[in-house]
Amino acid sequence: MAHVKLHIPGPVEVSAKTFEAFCRPMIGHRGQGYKDLYARMQPQLQSLFGTRQLVYLSTSSAWGVMEASIRNLVSKKVLNCMCGAFSDKWFDVAKRCGKEAEGLQVAWGSPILAEEVDRRLASGQFDALTLIHNETSCGLMNPLPEIAALKRKYPDVMFIVDSVSSLSAVPIPMDALGIDVLLAGVQKALALPPGLAVFACSPGALAKSTTAADRGYYFDFNEFQKNAEGSMTPSTPSISHTYALAAKLDDIFVEGVEARYARHAATNQMLRDWATGSGFTLFPEAGYESRTLVCVNNGAKQGGRVIDVAKFQKLVKDQGILIDGGYGKIKGTTFRVSNMGDETQATLATLIEVLDVALSKL
Ligand SMILES: *Cc1c(COP(=O)(O)O)cnc(C)c1O
Repeated sequence: MAHVKLHIPGPVEVSAKTFEAFCRPMIGHRGQGYKDLYARMQPQLQSLFGTRQLVYLSTSSAWGVMEASIRNLVSKKVLNCMCGAFSDKWFDVAKRCGKEAEGLQVAWGSPILAEEVDRRLASGQFDALTLIHNETSCGLMNPLPEIAALKRKYPDVMFIVDSVSSLSAVPIPMDALGIDVLLAGVQKALALPPGLAVFACSPGALAKSTTAADRGYYFDFNEFQKNAEGSMTPSTPSISHTYALAAKLDDIFVEGVEARYARHAATNQMLRDWATGSGFTLFPEAGYESRTLVCVNNGAKQGGRVIDVAKFQKLVKDQGILIDGGYGKIKGTTFRVSNMGDETQATLATLIEVLDVALSKL
């Protein structure tokens, strides 16, 4: 169907094949058909997550599981690592859940560094930490392995990691890294329609959540575990998403995860090269750039080119592609272009032609 193709960093373009799977007829979610579907996906999900734990399906956006992690796992105080719009919001969500929370705030575009996390955790006040691996709002990828290595030093702290815009694009071996909750919404790196989140919990996180008095029902981690043991979900899931995810996982393992990671590295490099080659600089601190999108500076302050972002975006859209004009407080002073999901070097080449035509008309 003719439509404006999405190169915004979520939701991203959904393939015709994924939509076809999404539109299959409904089945009962307590029947053998659904159980078989879920069970068949489980080893693929576990491989993608790098975990021996069961991977759960939550019919919610990522925020459902992000809030759930707070409600299931924070009893003392949570340290929220904040470096952009989504990670800043997680601090706000923790407080709205009535939890004690402290922000480890760095400037947008700067990474969260393990030394600073270590310094805060050393106070002994915290029993949980939230980290966004790939801060989509500013195109920044945090040094997850270095931060996660602190789990060995602080075994009682729950390490909660959002990989919404990085899962399946870069390796995130959950168990090896010592992550307690790894979660992702499916409309970004996994390129499904929005409306489902996938996540897994360490044995430590499951044990801890049984002691959380106010964890509710819909997002109770123990309900997810109990049901997943029978290849089911606690409540009626989005069955359409389950079909779509199963099809996507087949695609991922036919391509091969290593090839998928390499594809994202190559397509992201094309975007970085386009940006710098066109006279722009990148927003995130050098060395911490995302692999799934670019967040490009629009400003002389950074020593780069200045354009009318709104006009540029419109000129791109007139050619059938949507890019993003900057998120929140960096709207207009940055713009973002995504290479997440099914994008290839060929589709990126087309995108770059479109971007160049738009630039030439400014
Ligand atoms: C988009 C995004 C979210 C929020 O996802 P929703 O689907 O809106 O709940 C959270 N974290 C990151 C890193 C994101 O990119």
